[in-house]
Amino acid sequence: MNGSNWRIQEQCPQCGAPVVLEETDRILSCAYCRTRLFICSPDPCHYYIPAPTAAETVYVPYWRLRGLAYRIEPLEIGDAYIDLNRRALSLSGLPVSLGVRPQAMKLRFLSQETPGTFLQPGLTAEEALPRTITPSGGAGRDIFIGEAVSLIYSPMTARGNTLYDAFRPAQTLPWTEAERERCPALAPTARTRVRFLPTLCPSCGWDLQGARDTLALTCGNCQSVWTPSGAALERTPFLVMNGLGDDTHYLPFWRLRIHCEGIALESLADLARLTNLPRAITGEMERRPAYLWVPAFKINPALFMRWTRQATVFQPEADYGEKLPRQNIYPVTLTAPEALESVPLTLANIVTDKRVFFAALPRLKPHARETTLVYQPFSASPRELIHQTMKVVIDRKALSFGASM
Ligand SMILES: [Zn+2]
Ligand SMILES: [Zn+2]
Repeated sequence: MNGSNWRIQEQCPQCGAPVVLEETDRILSCAYCRTRLFICSPDPCHYYIPAPTAAETVYVPYWRLRGLAYRIEPLEIGDAYIDLNRRALSLSGLPVSLGVRPQAMKLRFLSQETPGTFLQPGLTAEEALPRTITPSGGAGRDIFIGEAVSLIYSPMTARGNTLYDAFRPAQTLPWTEAERERCPALAPTARTRVRFLPTLCPSCGWDLQGARDTLALTCGNCQSVWTPSGAALERTPFLVMNGLGDDTHYLPFWRLRIHCEGIALESLADLARLTNLPRAITGEMERRPAYLWVPAFKINPALFMRWTRQATVFQPEADYGEKLPRQNIYPVTLTAPEALESVPLTLANIVTDKRVFFAALPRLKPHARETTLVYQPFSASPRELIHQTMKVVIDRKALSFGASM
């Protein structure tokens, strides 16, 4: 089964009232004291399922993996939406995936004070991902654009040389000296900690705006955008493409200026050469930078790939402003580092000479020279949003992707 729709039980850091969060929530709103706090979670976030008893508990780690997965191969690009839990420790007898029903269980954020033994993950998230391409397979690459990559700790009761699943005691694991040695516990200081930050503009002190699941908070007073960086909010460069009409809706995109070994993509002329566009290359095109455009919001894998390709080939240019729209700003739900992960995918889609692309792919490590959040204007109809310059349509339902999964 998949692991969608986990909920997190927390206490309001101000007044102590219970608060239930969705896994995608970035803002904790307390119904009692009206506090609004931004949740700065470390990467990966550590959660645990509280043990039902007070017995000595050993918590075993599972990777929670949710996001877009692609397989780039010479003849095709496969895509899938991944939403699973996979054990982060290869202990014999430990089920491969977490079999607890999310509806019944609420997670908690792990902290240094949480009682119990928490085992260190023995596998990385990468290693836990289902792989389709063998590393020795040569011309291909798996790409994972993770919307949620976290660790969930599941409780086991320790008795003698055995661990009993705290919810299904019939399920047991050997827990002898040898296993204990092989699976050390996480030091309390290594338990990453969630921080709650006031939703106040770090620059001018005004209330920051943003939907509950946004990764980017906006200040309408000093015209700034803030995204989490470690345990603080950091100013993010942004631009707004001025829209037509009052009912313009603004969708966020990451505009990346990249550098990568093996593939020249510095200027519009480079882009025209790579994509074999039937147009004469001018000196002006040699001078103007090329950007990769990536949706900063969640959509399904096929649509995400289509938008990165279309917007990158189109190179939307506009009359940019630095004044934030007053309304209809969509939340940022995909981080800039995740957007950078998508670069090989976009190149696989736009580079015409596949031999050149696949020769460069094994050592392709794109690096962002410049990252800007750009709000692009869309006209709204009841069912769709239409990009005002590209004229490409997106179904409004497609924008709630992820929220309903
Ligand atoms: Zn409160
Ligand atoms: Zn401000």
